Amino acid sequence: MTVMEKILVTRSSMPELDEYIEEIKSVFESHYLTNMGPKHEELRKELKDYLGVEGIELLTNGHTALELTLQAYGLKGEVITTPFTFISTTHAIKRSGCTPIFCDINPYDYTMDVNQIENLITDDTVAIMPVHVYGNICNIEEIEKIAKRHNLKVIYDAAHTFGEEYKGRGIGSYGDASCFSFHATKVFHTIEGGAVCTADKELLQLIYYYKDFGILDAENIVTVGANGKMNEFCACMGLCNLRHIEDEIKKREKVVFKYREMLKGINGIKLCDEQPDVKSNYAYFPVVFTDEFKFSRDEVFNNLSANNIGARKYFYPLANSIECYKDEYSVFDTPVAYDISKRVLTLPLYADLDLKNVERICEIILNGK
Ligand SMILES: *Cc1c(COP(=O)(O)O)cnc(C)c1O
Repeated sequence: MTVMEKILVTRSSMPELDEYIEEIKSVFESHYLTNMGPKHEELRKELKDYLGVEGIELLTNGHTALELTLQAYGLKGEVITTPFTFISTTHAIKRSGCTPIFCDINPYDYTMDVNQIENLITDDTVAIMPVHVYGNICNIEEIEKIAKRHNLKVIYDAAHTFGEEYKGRGIGSYGDASCFSFHATKVFHTIEGGAVCTADKELLQLIYYYKDFGILDAENIVTVGANGKMNEFCACMGLCNLRHIEDEIKKREKVVFKYREMLKGINGIKLCDEQPDVKSNYAYFPVVFTDEFKFSRDEVFNNLSANNIGARKYFYPLANSIECYKDEYSVFDTPVAYDISKRVLTLPLYADLDLKNVERICEIILNGK
């Protein structure tokens, strides 16, 4: 096969240059570059409507959203979470002075196995931090029940679920708080950026202080805050990208449907089902290769690489097996997550991925070349 253009696992969506320049004109005129300027406020309001949430604070990135939420709640103790996530989730818990406790995932949508959460609750448990992984929504009802029963906070890592709805409600409206990432690689981005969504007015006010050094006014600093402010150029990128988001998601859907058409029903290949009651954003396309498939996950990865196609072993290695956590935890405590982490690949997926290329990627997966 001839060597073709390189296909990366993702490619950031961008507005037309002219559209962005038009957006930043007023920033150049006003010299108001950051510190909750007019573009920041405009984006905040638009996102509040689009996401269907009661309250939202914009931040420098999704990781800061997670850390500041844990800190603003003043949580100290054990936080039940999943090892099957981007390492940011685990680091946020640890860096906030809490202890991550890893709950295994279910083998269907790879979110937290709700049947195992209660076994992990102790007198020190203060919160649950589940992840809507790949855009798959967690078992929200069950998590809510458990949290109520044990008086725990629920903070969702919603980094993969921008624009999704569950039962007609914005996904960011669930839990005590939901944290989004607007990183360049996500479905919606502000280059770098993130947000905390919550209906808890007190939390929202605290997040505002926490992202601005705890400053109340020129002479009063009310808490030991950090710096997590989104600047005006990032907000402008968000305003442009938000205009095109529905179109972007539709294009992603086409790519995903093509993948499904080519890969479904094949012995040894496991795809995620569409979830009922969910408006999907088609953020990722994870494929799990079982022993029945003729190639192992790593062989598929290598075959794709040899053809200039970048897939991603996402999430491998697991959070509880990386250098800085492996001494305190064991992957054998979360056997399903461990197994999936060795078998999963996320395939290239972005709005402008040509369907011809999707076919080519699938042929290489199925035939090795
Ligand atoms: C991207 C991501 C984050 C971190 O967001 P940043 O904006 O990159 O800081 C956290 N959790 C998950 C699951 C993510 O995918």
